[in-house]
Amino acid sequence: MDNIISTSQVRDITRLERSGTHSHIKGLGLNEKLEPRSNSQGMVGQLRARKAAGVILKMIQKGKIAGRAILMAGAPGTGKTAIAMAMAQELGDDVPFTSISASEVFSLEMSKTESLTQAFRKSIGVRIKEETDIIEGEVVEVQIDRSVTGVGSKTGKLTLKTTDMETIYDLGQKMIESLNKEKVVAGDVIQIDKSTGRITKLGRSFLRARDFDATGSEVKFVQCPDGELQTRKELVHTVSIHEIDVINSRQQGFLALFSGDTGEIKPEIREQINQKVAEWREEGKATIVPGVLFIDEIHMLDMECFSFLNRALEDNLAPVVIMASNRGIAKIRGTNYKSPHGMPLDLLDRLSIISTEPYSEDEMHEILKIRCIEEEAELTSDAIDILTKIATETSLRYAINLITTSYLVAQKRKSLKVDVADIKRVYSLFLDEKRSVQYVKEFQTEFLYNVADDTSSKMA
Ligand code: ATP
Repeated sequence: MDNIISTSQVRDITRLERSGTHSHIKGLGLNEKLEPRSNSQGMVGQLRARKAAGVILKMIQKGKIAGRAILMAGAPGTGKTAIAMAMAQELGDDVPFTSISASEVFSLEMSKTESLTQAFRKSIGVRIKEETDIIEGEVVEVQIDRSVTGVGSKTGKLTLKTTDMETIYDLGQKMIESLNKEKVVAGDVIQIDKSTGRITKLGRSFLRARDFDATGSEVKFVQCPDGELQTRKELVHTVSIHEIDVINSRQQGFLALFSGDTGEIKPEIREQINQKVAEWREEGKATIVPGVLFIDEIHMLDMECFSFLNRALEDNLAPVVIMASNRGIAKIRGTNYKSPHGMPLDLLDRLSIISTEPYSEDEMHEILKIRCIEEEAELTSDAIDILTKIATETSLRYAINLITTSYLVAQKRKSLKVDVADIKRVYSLFLDEKRSVQYVKEFQTEFLYNVADDTSSKMA
């Protein structure tokens, strides 16, 4: 437990996202008054939902809410995930954001509740304040006693205007060696690494301490009793509680953080970590940063998971949970009960619901234009118009998927611009959902395991 603080070196690796479906989204596109701009930061339309998301975001940023749950409800392709991703972009690196799909919870490696607990704890940050091991200060006096006591060995004294004098003296010989190499004289501003005794010369004292703050950490000026200025650094790291759990779980060790193969973590470990974090909070060493857990396709959870969520949201270490569903009235998984979005009513009752609406043709046109830029495909205006038409008649997602494929077709005929003919070509090559169903109906007898005659499982 003593080395818990070293976990602060670990960065959140779950944040790395490959450029993909939502890579054009850079934020919610709101102004300072939280009013949505019609087309900004890659976001188009969906004004009401974006504004509502903006309000939630402000509350999260102020650390005002934890344990709240929000449901993004709307038809497929109406930007529920896009809005959640925009929120993640706006939160900044310091606030944890975890994104899972509900189906990930069902794995053979760990129980459903363990998987959800890990997701919850990944979304709670602990901001730890550490005084750095690097001492920085101005050299007042350097005396090197050259009365040699052995070949090459030297003794000496270095006086710094820091509060950490004793530690510096303890560094002994190592520091003196380094001191000689660096040729430090009075008036120099230096850094000493407490663990190695290495001295780095930063410059002369007329330089201000903040000029050396290459790490971006906070530099504090502390007034000495004798009125002189001195510097002390305070480093702030944010790690998730899950990371602290894994590192302190003896079986797993920190390498599990990289492989993701953490297995189940014992409840006793979590209990200990909670206590330790509570102590740090009391001592003013750490603050809790409630982050965001996004659970897509929430209707894929079953009754056990829902009742777990109900309880977990009441924990005082709970993140803000954003759920998304495109289901209407649907069966709650594992039961015969039907309910809105396939979720139990008692959970629904505690959610703030943000609904998304279908896009107008103009909005789809704008989104498609943004996606073309993102995918570095140039389309003629006629080609974008036809693509928009396709989006209105099939789906926005289907139309987005045609961008890169049509660009490849254009390249094949040695053109740098996609034209209407290229769009037509890929439209005939790749079926959208409606035509696919049509095709299956037409050729149903040719398919393996055809169940079309079975009245209990009709297609479409
Ligand atoms: P589903 O219910 O099927 O999961 P969804 O509502 O989560 O759908 P998204 O995946 O967010 O839909 O949207 C489909 C595509 O359209 C994505 O590439 C997304 O980035 C883009 N998109 C959706 N809404 C917007 C928007 N308002 N502005 C810009 N791009 C958007």
